[in-house]
Amino acid sequence: MGAVNRRDIRQALAARILEEHHRQEVSVEKKALIDSPRAVALDAFDPADTGGMDKDQAADKVGKLERRLAHQQELLYAAAQNAVMVVLQGMDTSGKDGTIKHVMASVNPVGVQVSNFKQPTAEELAHDFLWRVHRRAPALGVLGIFNRSHYEDVLVVRVHKLVPQEVWKQRYEQINAFERTLAQNGTIVLKFFLHISKVEQERRLLERERDLEKSWKLAVADWQERGYWDEYQKAYTDALGRCATKEAPWYVVPADKKWYRDLFIAQAIVERLEPHERRWERDLKERGKRERAAIEEYRRQHSAQK
Ligand code: AMP
Ligand code: MG
Repeated sequence: MGAVNRRDIRQALAARILEEHHRQEVSVEKKALIDSPRAVALDAFDPADTGGMDKDQAADKVGKLERRLAHQQELLYAAAQNAVMVVLQGMDTSGKDGTIKHVMASVNPVGVQVSNFKQPTAEELAHDFLWRVHRRAPALGVLGIFNRSHYEDVLVVRVHKLVPQEVWKQRYEQINAFERTLAQNGTIVLKFFLHISKVEQERRLLERERDLEKSWKLAVADWQERGYWDEYQKAYTDALGRCATKEAPWYVVPADKKWYRDLFIAQAIVERLEPHERRWERDLKERGKRERAAIEEYRRQHSAQK
């Protein structure tokens, strides 16, 4: 009896230590997670935050996280019981493209679908604003990455008054209903706001002008849009505050440092997929067992026939 108890205690202790270790490894700043509707003050989030880490420490961590993410994506793909929708939003130069390039470098392209949302085409404009987005919603098993999204319809559209206020005001609720529909049908939704400072944006825009290899990225529109900085921040404040739910939360990503941005996003995704990962693994094992039994049965019948 005593021996069994001691073993139980030892096991429980080991599990606790492991869990604790895991929590330290994988945990985004709780304050950066907005998962219920509330008033958001973007000023309260420091775009230059690095979680007290330096670049070398981050490189070590991000490597580990990317390997875990690759494993999770493999399970997601194989189990095909959920879809994952990663929404990337942020001002020009905030790093949406860079995030896709770095964080997703480790995953298997066979199960990834990247969607870029640009100015709507005439056909897209002739439909409701969610039409083009819903068509690109990831299928079960797929990790879908949205480079911009339906949120543009309460951001650029609001800032530039492309539709009347009565129209865009209704969209927050429509977006919540849409994301709830996706979530209730097996889609895990994560939305990242890449938060950069105005000073850092200027530095990046000027850097692009100096770098010949980046000149394809130059756009006078970026400077024009920068002129609407405050209006955009206000529009983001509302989008984050009104469209934050438990099933489709927003993460405010400190994005002035590219290495921390990558780490933060990788960490958030890994953490969010973790509870599902165990279920996928269990189901895949079950599937393996069933198939193994079916193969054995097939062999038995096959050899009986001979
Ligand atoms: P980029 O991401 O740099 O390729 O630029 C795409 C552009 O398309 C951005 O300026 C967006 O604001 C714009 N865009 C995306 N979605 C919409 C939309 N629904 N309505 C108007 N402009 C949009
Ligand atoms: Mg651009």
